[in-house]
Amino acid sequence: MQDKIYDVSPEWSRRALLDDAGYRAKYEASVKDPDAFWAEEAKRIHWFKQPTRIKNTNFGPGTVAIRWFEDGTTNVAYNCVDRHLDTRGDQVAIIWEGDDPSESKSITYRELHDEVCRMANVMRNRGVERGDRVTIYMPMIPEAAYAMLACARLGAVHSVVFGGFSPDSLAGRIEDAQSKFVITADEGLRGGRKVPLKVNVDAALDRIGSKLVDHVLVVRRTGAAVNMEPGRDVYYDEAAAMVSGDCPVEEMNAEDPLFILYTSGSTGKPKGVMHTTGGYLVYTSLTHQYVFDYHDGDVYWCTADVGWVTGHSYLLYGPLANGATTLMFEGVPTYPSISRFWEVIDKHNVSIFYTAPTAIRSLMQAGEDPVKKTSRRSLRILGSVGEPINPEAWEWYYRVVGDGRCPIVDTWWQTETGGILITPLPGATKLKPGSATRPFFGVKPQVVDADGKVLEGKAEGNLVIADSWPGQMRTVYGDHERFVQTYFSTYPGKYFTGDGCRRDEDGYYWITGRVDDVLNVSGHRMGTAEVESALVAHPKVSEAAVVGYPHDIKGQGIYAYVTLMAGEEPSEELRKELVAWVRREIGPIASPDLIQFAPGLPKTRSGKIMRRILRKIAEDEAGNLGDTSTLADPTVVDDLVTNRQNKR
Ligand code: ATP
Ligand code: MG
Repeated sequence: MQDKIYDVSPEWSRRALLDDAGYRAKYEASVKDPDAFWAEEAKRIHWFKQPTRIKNTNFGPGTVAIRWFEDGTTNVAYNCVDRHLDTRGDQVAIIWEGDDPSESKSITYRELHDEVCRMANVMRNRGVERGDRVTIYMPMIPEAAYAMLACARLGAVHSVVFGGFSPDSLAGRIEDAQSKFVITADEGLRGGRKVPLKVNVDAALDRIGSKLVDHVLVVRRTGAAVNMEPGRDVYYDEAAAMVSGDCPVEEMNAEDPLFILYTSGSTGKPKGVMHTTGGYLVYTSLTHQYVFDYHDGDVYWCTADVGWVTGHSYLLYGPLANGATTLMFEGVPTYPSISRFWEVIDKHNVSIFYTAPTAIRSLMQAGEDPVKKTSRRSLRILGSVGEPINPEAWEWYYRVVGDGRCPIVDTWWQTETGGILITPLPGATKLKPGSATRPFFGVKPQVVDADGKVLEGKAEGNLVIADSWPGQMRTVYGDHERFVQTYFSTYPGKYFTGDGCRRDEDGYYWITGRVDDVLNVSGHRMGTAEVESALVAHPKVSEAAVVGYPHDIKGQGIYAYVTLMAGEEPSEELRKELVAWVRREIGPIASPDLIQFAPGLPKTRSGKIMRRILRKIAEDEAGNLGDTSTLADPTVVDDLVTNRQNKR
């Protein structure tokens, strides 16, 4: 189908950190002698005690244990803040852009140090010690970053819960992490609407009962009058005014936990993914520098919420470890107008912009004008993460947003991987729209068939990683057995990603969707992403999700849920047109058997399509949808069930 190639532009060859030969040499070195490679790269962070044991990892069978830099000691907050004070104390660390365009502010590294220390002292005075778990349920305000870094400073383990989650989901995560300390705000503000965070915390704590949580720290965002439980709840500004702006740093072992984060739940009940200190920081710092070709003076903007792993690794830790200027945005892409992203880019001269395909697809619907009326001259690099990006959306991002001058880095990774594993490097990698391209340093991807046989060359199958990298998760919090079962039992001795993929003749990787979602139609394997991309390429289609359902003759039939562009009407004619379109784009084997026009698709709160729900509906199993607690809008499901297409 579309195998368009974008060469590296001459301008990019001149300024990039690495060219193609440079990438190849560094990659080869990284997989040939991981100990030597990572011993060298570890020097990019400050260690109180330099590590001498570099890699000690075992993927089983039997014991699974992953340790990096295990005799080194360091502190993540020290590396992200204190270390920069001498050289860049007055440089802006965080640009904060409020929900309302009239509100924004800049925080220098020196100010960040003061704020993080105050937050840490407030926590320490209330008994938080190294190893304690702290739940952070916050809007996108600088205090969310202070809270995370304050935990790191004290050696406490944070568990950030996305502010869009319900009291039930929050309660479940507080209990699972057994955290005694919660940090929240009175209310959040998104798209002009208020989010009742403190009310939700109260409801969650009522559900848990009185024993677990001792303290709730409340940051004033909107100033709303909220219930304050005497002895338990305290306003952050009042507590912070009484403590000093200096706080000692805990010396942490490289393998001490840094945070727990629950996955977004697209495939099932979220898992408490645990990351540790040294390897995570080295890996996020290295990837942030190379993948985004970060140079001093760049303004870097990752639109992810701190509630997701992208908000941990590439809004906060990676960039701050590199002494970057990182932009934090409180609002949504469509408020007060659909040009908001592009306006923010112009306002702050953003040079690197990193967002998700779901945002691109929704902004595409409004056409080019809202983009083209802004300048975007400061942009150098565009990034994508979270789902496969359809070639159609890629082209639009490249041509309309980037004016054809900015490389797109389509970064494949997972909460579990801690950082980016498969990605282009700007200036080094030719781009193919829809492909995450090549592995990052130290990453050994393999394509295996259902029996675990390693496929060479051009191949399609399941994506596994053959060896460890420093940013990898260490365990499922409190359940190491689940860790081993989930990731290391399907293909013993290898990390199983759960994703399907294709490797092409150039060694480029194409993520085809979740393995559970791969279609098998009359014996032909096909990725859902491929069929979806063909549908989205039709001018009247805005989004599409494809699942399989039992089919008497073919084994599996193709069921497509299609959302049309604003103003387009569903019709039998259009249905036929779409089937013919997919036939032409991919081939007869990929023709959808059933098409359901859907005004909305079920998505997680991070914007990913939950195909397992669509599969249940297609299979007429709507009574058995499984865990739906991470759905952004549960009401779309009712419409889908009502308008389900009958099997032929
Ligand atoms: P859960 O594990 O609970 O089902 P989740 O997998 O959606 O949730 P994340 O860790 O946020 O949780 O997402 C990782 C997944 O997102 C990857 O396994 C992959 O399927 C998809 N993904 C992320 N980035 C890309 C990308 N650039 N291209 C294709 N797919 C991507
Ligand atoms: Mg996952």
